[in-house]
Amino acid sequence: MNKPKIALVCHRGENPGNNRILPDSLGTTYINSVIKAGGLPFLIPLDFPLDNLNIIRESFDGLLLTGGGDVDTKRYGGIEHPSVGEVWPVRDEIECRLYHLALETEWPVFGICRGIQIMNVAAGGKLYSHIPDQVPTVKHVHNQPTGTPRDHLVHDVLIEPGTLLHQIIGKDRIPVNSFHHQAVSVPGEGMKVTAFSDDGIIEAIENPDHPFVLGVQWHPECMQQYDDHMKLFRAFVEASRRL
Ligand code: MN
Repeated sequence: MNKPKIALVCHRGENPGNNRILPDSLGTTYINSVIKAGGLPFLIPLDFPLDNLNIIRESFDGLLLTGGGDVDTKRYGGIEHPSVGEVWPVRDEIECRLYHLALETEWPVFGICRGIQIMNVAAGGKLYSHIPDQVPTVKHVHNQPTGTPRDHLVHDVLIEPGTLLHQIIGKDRIPVNSFHHQAVSVPGEGMKVTAFSDDGIIEAIENPDHPFVLGVQWHPECMQQYDDHMKLFRAFVEASRRL
């Protein structure tokens, strides 16, 4: 059986020691999750020519928007905050454009962490720039400290029945990891909130008018030992196969 080809836009980092730009790359857990789910991963560099993005749409069966730095606050009219970091407007631009191509052409898109955030911003929605300062009612540390095991389960998410997410996972509530200081505040056009944390943060969105536009705020790629989280990758790869 043919394996669906999945495009993943790279992350770009800076060496804090000398401010040199590091090579475009991507965490191996994203890559391995796609392979384990039956897909073939292909990395897209951030300087890919914007005029030729249609080639990416034509060449690949699905789009995975991964974690990384923060979305530029200017793009969604967000509050400036000193903790906003690793902003690469070139990545925002390529991912927003790819999201719109996906909307127009029924291309499956799965967004993780930054991925849910850029999807929401591309759809005209807004983000909290820094949850602890903007949502005083939160109970959990959504941004677990550096060094915390990436599969550490921090809080539960409550999944709305009758949604694509609920159909995939088949449960009303699951525990997740949490490595984010930002979150969706106002859902974008066409976006439906499909999961909240048990302290009220939006943790998943989807577009019910599209076959597969799904974003989650947690990191399923770091929890490959849990079937509930691998179901997300399998559903995404299968959706990419059908279309
Ligand atoms: Mn969280």
